[in-house]
Amino acid sequence: MREHPDACFQCEQRRPLIGVTGAGNGICGPCAGVDLTYACQRCGTSEEIFREQMCTRCFATKRLAEALGGEDATIPAHREDFHSALSAAGRPRRVAYWLTCDRVPALLKYIGASKEEFTHRHLDDLPNTPTTRYIRDVLVAAAVLQPRDDRLEALPRWADAFLAQAPLPHRKYLTPFAHWFLLHRIRRTHRHRPLRASTQHQMRSRLRRALELLDWLDRHGIPLGKLTQPELETWLEEGPEKRREVRIFITWARGRGLAGALEVPRAPVAAPSVFSTDEGQAEQLHRCLSDETMPLDVRTAGALTLLFGLQHTRLLELTLHDIIDNDTDVTLNLNGHRLPLPPEVAQLVRALRDQCQKRWQLDQTASTTPWLFPGQEPARFLGATYLYLKLRRHGIAPLASRNTARLALATDLPASVLADFTGTSISNATRWTGYAKRDWLDYIASRTQI
Ligand SMILES: [Zn+2]
Repeated sequence: MREHPDACFQCEQRRPLIGVTGAGNGICGPCAGVDLTYACQRCGTSEEIFREQMCTRCFATKRLAEALGGEDATIPAHREDFHSALSAAGRPRRVAYWLTCDRVPALLKYIGASKEEFTHRHLDDLPNTPTTRYIRDVLVAAAVLQPRDDRLEALPRWADAFLAQAPLPHRKYLTPFAHWFLLHRIRRTHRHRPLRASTQHQMRSRLRRALELLDWLDRHGIPLGKLTQPELETWLEEGPEKRREVRIFITWARGRGLAGALEVPRAPVAAPSVFSTDEGQAEQLHRCLSDETMPLDVRTAGALTLLFGLQHTRLLELTLHDIIDNDTDVTLNLNGHRLPLPPEVAQLVRALRDQCQKRWQLDQTASTTPWLFPGQEPARFLGATYLYLKLRRHGIAPLASRNTARLALATDLPASVLADFTGTSISNATRWTGYAKRDWLDYIASRTQI
């Protein structure tokens, strides 16, 4: 199946079709046996010709100028940065495609004619597709737009849409709780680091649980201020475990005198139950180090998980700058902690670094950060769920291997070091060192039999 309908049927290159096959399919000059030289009319490159006898970049650049500058395609002076950023994008085909997307020509015509400052808001009005995100990333990397945390930016909009559907009396509580408390806290703690998907999910869940409680109180004719501890516990017990996430709402309401002295009991944290056997761990590590049919990112992420029990979110936040290579040894920089790598793992990290470096050269027009595990969109690292599934697909048990490695480390490291090192919380690390003090052989044996 040809990717493009106007590509040559035989070589699948996008070239002018000058002949037909016996079956009536179009073929290009070279495939028809005619020696023609294809070169872009504007820049002379003989790379893939896109449209109107121009390469993709020249075609996109010309169309962009026409869209911004109207009839005579003269780019207004205050849009030159915008035009040159997109003309230089590492993936001109995506720019060419974007120019044909719904509402884009109208937007370009508008900003070409207006003196208004170009902001993220202009792109927010377009559908949030990978192409729109790519264009935004290119404009951010070129400093045409200010950097912005899209997850953080999306939360208030989500909260407003959520609150708009809540009954009016509930909004009296939920609006200040969402905007002045939850979002304020998130903004404060994420001033210097991007918001993780888990934090985004947690904030939504907290707001949903608060609404569920208010709905329940409504149905039972209980005002929030009159809610008693036994009633609160009834509601908690009637529903799923996640209802305990209402704790922060209760604390907020208490602090403002909106609710009495209520407590949401903490759920006991279950001890980790999934472990690998020593043989299993060794076999997976051996494959990560030596199986060249496995993708390099899976081998590297797998080896680092199996040896050091790193939290995936921590692993994914690594950039090429975090790899310190003095030609003899390779050290990873984990939040200021130096982790020296064994030679075989160092080789994997070096190979992945070189691969990412190459890719980043193409992608740096859309990303200011060279991630060690880049996602489809170069400005963002791979999703944690995606990495988890990718490891499993290649026979690496992410959770079991991480737990086993972490347990081995917890026997030697104090909790504070373990927390910094693996990217887990201090309370979680304290639990791990607690587990490590027990008789682990019995413990693991009992768990692996389940
Ligand atoms: Zn060209």
